[in-house]
Amino acid sequence: MSAKEVRTRFAPSPTGYMHVGNLRTALYTYLIAKHADGKFILRIEDTDQERYVEGAVDVIFKTLKMTGLVHDEGPDVGGPVGPYVQSERRGFYLEYAKELVEKGEAYYCFCDKERLDSIKDTSEDPSQKIFKYDGHCRNLSKEEVEKKLASGISYVIRQKNPTEGVTTFIDEIYGEISVDNSELEDMILIKSDGLPTYNFANVVDDHMMGITHVVRGNEYLSSAPKYNRLYNAFGWDVPTYIHCPPIMKDAHNKLSKRNGDASFEDLLAKGYLKEAVVNFIALLGWNPGTDQEIFTLEELVQQFDYKNIHKAPSIFDTVKLKWMNGEYIKKLSLDEFHSMAMPYYEDVFSKEEAEKLNLPKISELLQTRVEVLTEIPEKVAFFKELPNYEIDLYTHKKMKTNPENSLVTLEEVLPVLENLGDWAFQSIHDTVFELIAQMEVKNGIVLWPIRTALSGLASSPGGAFELAEILGKEESLRRIRVGIEKLKSQLEG
Ligand code: GLU
Repeated sequence: MSAKEVRTRFAPSPTGYMHVGNLRTALYTYLIAKHADGKFILRIEDTDQERYVEGAVDVIFKTLKMTGLVHDEGPDVGGPVGPYVQSERRGFYLEYAKELVEKGEAYYCFCDKERLDSIKDTSEDPSQKIFKYDGHCRNLSKEEVEKKLASGISYVIRQKNPTEGVTTFIDEIYGEISVDNSELEDMILIKSDGLPTYNFANVVDDHMMGITHVVRGNEYLSSAPKYNRLYNAFGWDVPTYIHCPPIMKDAHNKLSKRNGDASFEDLLAKGYLKEAVVNFIALLGWNPGTDQEIFTLEELVQQFDYKNIHKAPSIFDTVKLKWMNGEYIKKLSLDEFHSMAMPYYEDVFSKEEAEKLNLPKISELLQTRVEVLTEIPEKVAFFKELPNYEIDLYTHKKMKTNPENSLVTLEEVLPVLENLGDWAFQSIHDTVFELIAQMEVKNGIVLWPIRTALSGLASSPGGAFELAEILGKEESLRRIRVGIEKLKSQLEG
């Protein structure tokens, strides 16, 4: 008999954003299926959704599409075990719950709100205690139940957990976990409106959809015993559980929406590339056991073995993400980088300014010098406007320059460049080097003052010739004149 096909599902609740932790779950779920040549399924879990969030499902579709986590079955592409949206599956669950009642694994509960509130009130410190149903309706006789049902009293259906013994389940990452049954609550499976609770729908759906590996955040670990009992009660195969470690902002705080931490959309807006984000989050909880850090999605599919997921929390290290993003930026073609940089240029330069500057050349300089795209505006601001700098910028120990010899240089350079007809990197370069030879000085003596005058900065993306070419003749000469004036007035003054 051939081994069972691996079927995994990403089962997000539509919240309107894709938190980094959710995206990691989606990625791991996808990788586990694809590594085993199996199926990756998307199921939208909108049961228990307190309010409908406009466009929330689209965020999920869009993110999966952008990141390349293509699902084989789902609400938009269909499949053999649909519907794939929980709210469209409402009709399924009640029958399953009744099956459990028949088996003595669940029961009707007719307790009204008043009675439930009174149990809460008697607990010593209601705020500290998790409400636990006291089992009042567990042992109603069949006749009593039928009488109440016939009279139309509102009811819920609860899971009937044993009160003694232990429930043990195995999680692939966290190992064997045992819980005293006395701690398990008789959780509600079907609510008084006839609809399932989230927990029940989740288990029934996973079974109906033939899910073999359940991948989710470790915040669900404490619910797993109750889920496990449901599988056993039905006599269903228990899936392989893979609970992923938490993602931390730092040693003490979880990365969470509440802390205002990044969602996938936020990261894109902050100038990160989607491929870099995917690569980075793959390593939040998993590593291949080698030094390799840069992976394409295909490489991850090949190498991802869920047994290598670790249970230690992972820290979301922004410094590392930035580094990785820089590596992805370097790997882009110049055209790709240029079109990604364009919107940032448009924020800085007016149309007229952009026309005068050689933007593709700026992109060439920047591509190896930015880690995130949002650094672009600050890095190119000096092309728009010469910063108001101090003349000590002309002092460079290694270049052996100071304001005095810089003034001499710039006064030599100015007429030579004024006479230069063809304003391009090579001709500027050759002309300046001729001058250097004539002046019989070291290169730095001439190059540093020009670069400084053109940028007004201690460091700039690109040297004297590159900046001159980008700025164009008129603006370059103007900046050299500004430099000369600045040096003159301050040296004399
Ligand atoms: N709908 C749950 C969530 O968005 C996923 C639970 C699961 O994967 O079992 O957190």
